[in-house]
Amino acid sequence: MHDKRVALVTGANKGIGLQVAKDLAVRGFTVLVGSRDLERGEAATKGIAGDARALALDVTDTKSIAAAAEGIRNELGRLDVLVNNAAISHAGKSGRSLEEMMKAGRASVASLDEVRSVFETNVFGVIAVTQAMLPLLREAPAGRIVNVSSTAGSLTRNSDPTNPLRSMFGASYSPSKTALNAITLAFALELESTRIKVNAACPGFTATDLNNFQGTRSVEQAACEPVRLALLGPDGPTGTFSNDDGVIPW
Ligand code: NAP
Repeated sequence: MHDKRVALVTGANKGIGLQVAKDLAVRGFTVLVGSRDLERGEAATKGIAGDARALALDVTDTKSIAAAAEGIRNELGRLDVLVNNAAISHAGKSGRSLEEMMKAGRASVASLDEVRSVFETNVFGVIAVTQAMLPLLREAPAGRIVNVSSTAGSLTRNSDPTNPLRSMFGASYSPSKTALNAITLAFALELESTRIKVNAACPGFTATDLNNFQGTRSVEQAACEPVRLALLGPDGPTGTFSNDDGVIPW
């Protein structure tokens, strides 16, 4: 059996996922850098100090997910941490500004194809990857699942008329994170009697490709809460949604 703890971060070839991978590698994990393009994943591992290995993983591709799980079982035998980080904010051409994303995502005009694509990655991808990795997480002494969500998906926050950001709540990205929160709770409830803890983290508004680098936080700041949840001890919570400031209402 592999002696180091093993973490898989999906969509870790760039952005917040890459920083989470760096932070876990520094803490002694063998980190599997999930990337739908293996070359991009391999390039990313070069910037990670520690034991980082690229893993081809497209979260929307059943075969890719099954192959990744089989590879982990054969090479490492278990998974201690799964960070479901991969996501898309829209399915249009790259470089869309936040304003363009908000306009295209409005409930009255959002393209159903785009809504389906966003849910395929951000929700169904997480269910599929988590289901495939669960047998490996059950092999670990203290399995941890962290779903990288967003306050954009908080129904409580977005139904509050005093929240100035609620105009951004459209029909695709934000509801995909609402659904991801529900899925987080579903896995947490089912696994409550096991050693596995399942929590959702919001990294905050961070400058990455996801928002055309219009975010205001650094990836170093953004990675803190997902990493904290990945490292929870036996007394830590399960079935929660939080950021640096504490619990976020669902
Ligand atoms: P990012 O820089 O765009 O990174 C997204 C990552 O997901 C990339 O590695 C991308 O791979 C990968 N990905 C997309 N579709 C995939 C698929 N089908 N299979 C596998 N990987 C896929 O965005 P980010 O800001 O770091 O986002 C990371 C997480 O933080 C997401 O869950 C996002 O919703 C969440 N979040 C971000 C913010 C923010 O302000 N940035 C705020 C709240 C929550 P490619 O390079 O191949 O495209």
